[in-house]
Amino acid sequence: MDDTSNAYVPGDDASVAPGDHSAMARPAQDPDTGRRAYRQALIDARVLFPSTVDGIYGRSGLFESIADGLNYAVSKLGADQDAEVMRFPPAMPRKDFEASEYLKGFPQLAGTVHCFCGGDREHHRLLARLERGEEWADQQQPTDVVLAPAACYPVYPVVASRGPMPREGLVVDVLTYCFRHEPSIDPARMQMFRQREYVRLGTAEQIVEFRQRWMERGTQLASLLGLPHEVDVANDPFFGRGGKIVADSQRELKLKFELLVPINDGAPPTACMSFNYHMDHFAHAWPLRTADGAPAHTGCVGFGIERLTLALLRHHGFKPANWPQRVRDVLGGI
Ligand code: ATP
Ligand code: ZN
Repeated sequence: MDDTSNAYVPGDDASVAPGDHSAMARPAQDPDTGRRAYRQALIDARVLFPSTVDGIYGRSGLFESIADGLNYAVSKLGADQDAEVMRFPPAMPRKDFEASEYLKGFPQLAGTVHCFCGGDREHHRLLARLERGEEWADQQQPTDVVLAPAACYPVYPVVASRGPMPREGLVVDVLTYCFRHEPSIDPARMQMFRQREYVRLGTAEQIVEFRQRWMERGTQLASLLGLPHEVDVANDPFFGRGGKIVADSQRELKLKFELLVPINDGAPPTACMSFNYHMDHFAHAWPLRTADGAPAHTGCVGFGIERLTLALLRHHGFKPANWPQRVRDVLGGI
């Protein structure tokens, strides 16, 4: 910790010096103790504004200035990518969501948008139920809209609709709030959070090369930010018994790596960036084709803006004015 005034001061065992990789060890205490403590510290310092729902927070000016700084740092890192910028709202068409097969892997995380579609009679029933404190949401009807589960999903149908890609493929720069139904007292596990991504579309070789390059860049960024970190192979939380087989195979094929940073005292380190190779999965959902007409491969590097912000606050304190100058510079001078 560089900042002693107004900084989050966890238990003695949690003073993690930047670059201190022993901090990746997993102490034996109940991991929720550290999670609750950090969450409370963030709320007490008015960095995050809590709500009645776990994982839904308001963000302060301080939090947003760090988030903006991170986006600036990522943009600088990706300046040579000639990326096409796409910004989507935190929602996508239900049809595209169905095509992505997200419900096969993660039905437990998905969020769908339902609305009132009735007439006067249904409206009265709705208000009466509300008044009596009864359940009313089961009267809502599904719309054509679902919440975006990951920043890169809306990209694929857009690119596919253009026809075959140029020989060099494509890099797309996206940033959006995502929704995942995973309520938690862990401040680093929110239900709505931002992913900044570079998405690579092209041949298998292009994706593998891109992912390798970004694993190096992500590691470099974490070092520049003074965050202790390690990169490890990972898997997504696929649902159910069948999901375990998919997750094992994802690990075996090394399709997903994560950059982990200790955030919560006494808890395992948290995935703050991920480096994913989807093979040609999305070319089965949409007609994504290379210049040769072959099914395109895709991959993405994702920066968890909220988690990285929480990691910076955790390791450098709640006053950016007292952070190491180098870290402030990387963030564009916050
Ligand atoms: P985890 O294993 O921790 O659930 P994930 O592997 O599912 O995360 P990805 O799907 O790879 O995460 O998402 C990319 C990045 O988005 C993650 O590396 C992380 O930084 C961020 N992220 C994912 N889930 C959350 C969440 N619930 N709250 C905040 N950030 C998140
Ligand atoms: Zn992605």
